Amino acid sequence: MNEIMTRLRDLVGPAGWLDAPADLAPYEKEERGLFHGKARAVVRPADTREVAAVLKFCNEHRLPVVPQGGNTGLVGGGVPDTSGTQIILSLARLDKIRALDPVNDTMTVEAGVVLADIQNRAADADRLFPLSLAAEGSCRIGGNLSTNAGGINVLRYGMARDLVLGLEVVLADGRVLDTMTGLRKDNTGYDLKQIFLGAEGTLGIITAAVLKLFPAMREVETCFVALPDPKAGIELLGRAKAESGGNVQAFELTERRLIDFVLAHIPGTADPLAEKHPWYALIEFAAGDLGGALKAMVERLLERAMEDGLILDAAIASSEQQRKALWKLRESMTEAQKPEGASIKHDISVPVSSVPDFLARGAAAVEAFVPGARVCAFGHAGDGNIHFNVSRPLDWADDKFQALRHEMNARVHAIVAEYRGSISAEHGIGILKRDELPQHKDATALELMRTLKAAFDPNNILNPGKLLP
Ligand SMILES: Cc1cc2nc3c(=O)[nH]c(=O)nc-3n(C[C@H](O)[C@H](O)[C@H](O)COP(=O)(O)OP(=O)(O)OC[C@H]3O[C@@H](n4cnc5c(N)ncnc54)[C@H](O)[C@@H]3O)c2cc1C
Repeated sequence: MNEIMTRLRDLVGPAGWLDAPADLAPYEKEERGLFHGKARAVVRPADTREVAAVLKFCNEHRLPVVPQGGNTGLVGGGVPDTSGTQIILSLARLDKIRALDPVNDTMTVEAGVVLADIQNRAADADRLFPLSLAAEGSCRIGGNLSTNAGGINVLRYGMARDLVLGLEVVLADGRVLDTMTGLRKDNTGYDLKQIFLGAEGTLGIITAAVLKLFPAMREVETCFVALPDPKAGIELLGRAKAESGGNVQAFELTERRLIDFVLAHIPGTADPLAEKHPWYALIEFAAGDLGGALKAMVERLLERAMEDGLILDAAIASSEQQRKALWKLRESMTEAQKPEGASIKHDISVPVSSVPDFLARGAAAVEAFVPGARVCAFGHAGDGNIHFNVSRPLDWADDKFQALRHEMNARVHAIVAEYRGSISAEHGIGILKRDELPQHKDATALELMRTLKAAFDPNNILNPGKLLP
C-alpha cells in the first residue's frame, strides 16, 4: 500500500478499512448487476468526525469519493467507475438513532440507519415515518435522502425531501454544515439542506438528518379494484381523495400482465378476484380513530363507483394478512418480470391528469416499434409516476431486445416530454440517465446545477461522473 493509502487508512483505523478484492466485491456492483466498477478501497468511517477527516484528506489529495448507503439504487449512482482509482465511502457504520422527540414529532438519525429501523422506531413511539419502498429492509436513510426517494406514500406525505427538517452534511473540503434544528419554521435565508436532497452525493455527504414524524394511523383500509381502463382509475382516484377528505395514502395502478407474471413466478400469491380484468388499482386509505367510519366510507365509495361503471369488481382486505397479500402482489412486480426475459425500463412521471393518455400513447409507440413487445405498466399513478417497463417479445433473444434500449427510451421519453413530464420520477439520474439529461432538462437549470457543483466541489472529488453529463 502506498503512503497516501496508508494515511487514509489511519484516519479510520482497521475497523473502517477494506481493500482485499473479496471484501470490495459486494460494494463494486449494484444488485441488478447492470453497473460493475472497481474500487481502490472502501472506507467505513464510524462517525461524522471521521467522515470529515476522510473528505478533507481526499480533497487535498484529489481522491475521487463515491458515497454508498444500502447500495439499492437503480441508476448506478453508488458504484465506482472501472478506473480502480475511486474510494467508496460507506456510511453503514453511522447507524445510530440519536434522538426521538415525540412532542416535536421528530427523529434524529445518522445516515447509515436502515429505513425499516426508522419506521419501526417511529411505530414503537406511536408515530409514523411514512417513507416506504420495497427496498426498505436494506436501503439507508442517507441514500434515501440523496436520491430523494419516493415510494408508496408520496401521494399523502410527499417525497423524501418533504420529510426532512434538518441535515448534517460534510462538504468536499471537510467542513461540516449543521442545520439540525428540527424547526418547522425558519425563514432565515436560503434553504440549504434542499440542495443536498436528491443530489446523489455530488455536492456533499449527508451524515445525519432530523426527520418529520406523523401520527400513527388507527384505521387502515386496503382494497384491490378491477378497472375497465386507466381513465376510470384516475377518475376513481379523484373521487377517493375528495370523499375521504385526503385520507388516500397510496394509489397504485397496474395492468393485468403484471398480475399474470406475479401469479406465474412468485410463490404464495393468488388472484384476489374471481375473474381477469384489464387494469387494477391497489388503494390504501388511512385515518385516525374514526370509530370504524373509514371502512363505511370506502364501501360507499366503491359501491357508487361500481354503479357508475368505474370499477368492475373489488376486494377489501379484512385482515392484516389479507392486506399484506395485496401488497405482496404489488411489491413482487419487479421481481416477477425477471423470468420473462430482458426488460427495458422507464421511471417516468406526467401530470396525474395525463396518465391515461400517456399510457395509451406509450403502449402504441412501443408496439409500433417492436411488434410483440409486452408493455408492463404499473406504479404510483396517484403521483403521476408510472414504471413503464417493456418485456421482450416471447420469441426474441435478450440481447437483440436490449440492443434497442436507447431507441426505445428515446421514443417513450419523447412522449413524456410532450406532457412536460420527467424521465426520472423517483430513481434519480446516476449513470443510467446522465447522458440523456441535457435533452430533457431546461438549459438554464443545467447551467445552474453545474455552477452549484463547481462551488461546492471545485476539485470534483464527490461522485464524479454521476448525475451531471
Ligand atoms: C426492490 C427495490 C424497490 C425500490 N423501490 C423504490 C421506490 O419505490 N421508490 C424509490 O424512490 N426508489 C426505489 N428503489 C431504489 C432505491 O431503493 C432508492 O434509490 C434508495 O433511496 C437508495 O438508498 P440506498 O441507501 O440503497 O442508496 P445507495 O444505492 O447506496 O446510493 C444511492 C445514491 O445516493 C448516494 N448516497 C448514498 N448515501 C449517501 C450519503 N449519505 N450522502 C450523500 N450521498 C449518498 C450514492 O452515491 C448514490 O448516488 C428501489 C430499489 C429496489 C432494489
